[in-house]
Amino acid sequence: MATMKPRPRNLLNQRLADGVRRHGFRKWYERELLSSHAHMLLALLCTIALMGILEAFPGGSLGDKLLDVVLFIVSAGIGLWALRRYLYLLMHAEEVANQANCPQCGTYARFEVVNEDRRNGDTGVRCRQCAQEWTIES
Ligand SMILES: [Zn+2]
Repeated sequence: MATMKPRPRNLLNQRLADGVRRHGFRKWYERELLSSHAHMLLALLCTIALMGILEAFPGGSLGDKLLDVVLFIVSAGIGLWALRRYLYLLMHAEEVANQANCPQCGTYARFEVVNEDRRNGDTGVRCRQCAQEWTIES
């Protein structure tokens, strides 16, 4: 997988720091996974649409065939975008979750945000259990 550079996030996907501040890490993680799987579902629906278009293609007039070609390209484009987004969100959530253990006491996902570097996506966090601070890269 390519390096995970921060990118402009849409309204559905909050940055880690915002998500943790508002809802806590577990909720942020859950939302990222739900969003990721919604994109997978969209990719699946696009695949079904592509199969339907291919099945309808042999019949029909020239106008119908042109419409089929346009729909095929649009469905393929949306499907590829959704697949890419699904993989990105899933890998990003897993990458962050793998860094959610406190390096000192090992407590999972119990931390608060201390600071955030928006340029490189690093989030400084502090363990709620032992006050150890570490950086989560995303
Ligand atoms: Zn700790």
